[in-house]
Amino acid sequence: MIPASLVDTHAHVQTRHFDADRVETLERARGAGVGALLCVGYDLPTSRAAVTLARAYPDFARASVGLHPNDAQGASAADLETLEALAAEPEVVAIGETGLDYYRDRSSPARQAEVFAWHLRLAEQVAKPVVVHNRDADADAAVHLERSAARRPSGQPPGVLHCFSSEDPVFLQRMLDAGYFVSIAGPVTFRNSRGLPDVVARVPEDRLVVETDCPYLAPEPHRGRRNEPAYVRHTAERLAQLRHISFDALTHHLWTASCLLFPAFGSLPRATPA
Ligand SMILES: [Zn+2]
Repeated sequence: MIPASLVDTHAHVQTRHFDADRVETLERARGAGVGALLCVGYDLPTSRAAVTLARAYPDFARASVGLHPNDAQGASAADLETLEALAAEPEVVAIGETGLDYYRDRSSPARQAEVFAWHLRLAEQVAKPVVVHNRDADADAAVHLERSAARRPSGQPPGVLHCFSSEDPVFLQRMLDAGYFVSIAGPVTFRNSRGLPDVVARVPEDRLVVETDCPYLAPEPHRGRRNEPAYVRHTAERLAQLRHISFDALTHHLWTASCLLFPAFGSLPRATPA
């Protein structure tokens, strides 16, 4: 059996935080057994840069393009047109990050809803999953996401809730019922990870994926410093512990789930874990 490799399903390695050592960062990721990475945009420049990075690393990286809800307020019609063009690129395997963020008030909830709905329609059109940012907006996010999933052909994965943070088991179940994947980030390794261990226990193995959200949210033992894709291993180790399975078994489940969510990952050569 080929050893499965880890997948970082949400990394912002195209940003300035990695300008000084991007090549080394990606080398460290491979060395840590990361075989695939989704480079996620959150505005136009980072979406373009995500596509450029995916082109530079065709055997390792793919891109997602979108506007973060915090940037929804200023999004122009021309910006959305540009995104629509990017969304059709072959390196782009997902749309986002997009969603609702009621924790910050940089965009009005009404404008966030408009731009989120626009992204969902785009994702449906291009038949690619959506990468969802949801912060303190469970009820409204669920309505949008259930509608979008219902409009998809059956069997097509509607998307992933990135850096899952809701503590409401009813919300989690609604999202699983609608076909969404759940991505767990570094906070699950924190001592005060609150409801996350319970979430990890409830998500079926073919719907659970892992991410860094780097440069943010470094897992223990790197908490508080710059995060990077190699550290996804620490988060995966914690997930194996919480699910009472071996690291190898968990890695296989994560790889399988990641390829269901992003079928393009299935054609990448898998790195052998170090
Ligand atoms: Zn992110």
